[in-house]
Amino acid sequence: MDFTSISTLAQRKSADLLAVPFWKIKKGVQPAAELGKLKELLKVPLKTNDFKGKEGEVLIIYVDGQKESRIALVGLGEKKKISLEKLRRAYSKLAKSCLSKKVRDVNLLFPEISNLEEQQTSLGIAEGMLLSNYVFDKLKKDSIKEEPTVLLRKAVLIGAGKKALAAAKNAADICLGVYFARDLVNSNADDVTPQTLGQHARSLAKKFKNVKATVFDKKRIVKEKMGLLLAVNRGSVRDPAFIILEYKGDPKSKDHTVVVGKGITYDTGGLNLKPTGSMETMKCDMSGAAVALGTIYAAATVKLKKNVTAVIPSTENSISAMSYKPGDVYTSYTGKTVEIGNTDAEGRLVLADALAYANKKLKPTRIIDFATLTGAVIISLGEETTGLMSNDEKLENAIKKAGEATFERVWSLPLFEEYKKQLKSDIADIKNVGQRGAGAITAALFLQEFVGKTPWAHLDIAGTAYLSSARRYHPKNGTGVGVRLMIEFLHNI
Ligand SMILES: [Zn+2]
Repeated sequence: MDFTSISTLAQRKSADLLAVPFWKIKKGVQPAAELGKLKELLKVPLKTNDFKGKEGEVLIIYVDGQKESRIALVGLGEKKKISLEKLRRAYSKLAKSCLSKKVRDVNLLFPEISNLEEQQTSLGIAEGMLLSNYVFDKLKKDSIKEEPTVLLRKAVLIGAGKKALAAAKNAADICLGVYFARDLVNSNADDVTPQTLGQHARSLAKKFKNVKATVFDKKRIVKEKMGLLLAVNRGSVRDPAFIILEYKGDPKSKDHTVVVGKGITYDTGGLNLKPTGSMETMKCDMSGAAVALGTIYAAATVKLKKNVTAVIPSTENSISAMSYKPGDVYTSYTGKTVEIGNTDAEGRLVLADALAYANKKLKPTRIIDFATLTGAVIISLGEETTGLMSNDEKLENAIKKAGEATFERVWSLPLFEEYKKQLKSDIADIKNVGQRGAGAITAALFLQEFVGKTPWAHLDIAGTAYLSSARRYHPKNGTGVGVRLMIEFLHNI
């Protein structure tokens, strides 16, 4: 979706719809921008009181003799309560109305909001529309012929300044990374294999000149002695892949963020097989990998002046006669031995090898991992909030701040020593699962064993990466949550 701007209503060209913002006031509504000649036209519709200007309210009226045949009255709620997030929600509703009417091009009267900077106003409008302007329909064949999807392709911001337009364009570029992540998550597990993820990394390296891809095949992974990744892979007919995708936006700086993403392309649970009802969504278990790749996509698109590398350990967790076994002990990349308490706790195993490799070989200033890691985090925080666990307070606070700004919110859980007892093994250095309580925390404590002293943060996106129903500007299924969070975080450091 493209954004352009013009100064006045009179300059606008034909479009499918004109969006006009309103505040809710005590007695009715108040325009949130100069209406000019529209005032007369809107007199009758507003007089009916059908439209109250409430936050998220959208009323479409049909008019004659204008550059557009539809005018959408967009409610922003009360002036004093407006915020970046409220704008996202209001304009998300507008975008959804547009999609339902197959509107392609909109003229958008830019609201004047005194308590927000114009870039913030623009960001809220753009993100609300962009994040809602998405469908995943490539697996629909017959039904799509009858009812083809039409997405918004152009918005003209009327009365927006240069900075506002730049903010909207920047948001559109970042959202390309979000769409990319959503598509990866939503596609068939048989189409998004470890090898496909490797190909995507290579394509990104081809597309952007300061991006470099390295993909380890099974032979190389054996040579590197990534014993936990290999253990999880044993039940799969598909080879594992270990992907390193480097983006150098600031070659002169040594500052280097490594984003590790869990890339389990399908999780059956292994020999501790998941039951019916728990397996159907498990193509989403590579959402961490999608966030890592989407972050590189977005960073390279907006030419972010930071260095960031995505690291993805990828395999299916399948079952076969060769599957790795509960009760057996496997040796990790660092040499630490791990007793398998449950083969469905595979994410932390592949991540352990990836974190250890990143720590040893990639000279990271900080490591941040994204993983759909535990059901326990969904019990704690539901689908609203990502679980954050870290060994570094400064890093933790910076991620929280980025979470507030993007509304991809995170909440900290503690890594108290005492929980670690649960991971004690009688026969190996450590066990991969603890007891039932504090499952999100013990998973993180397991990971912590493999990051050395590097500042590290673990984001458990099991609840936020894949939604059971659409909410606000997040679609059902893959959300791409984590990409905007990372770009904001990287921008701030
Ligand atoms: Zn699992």
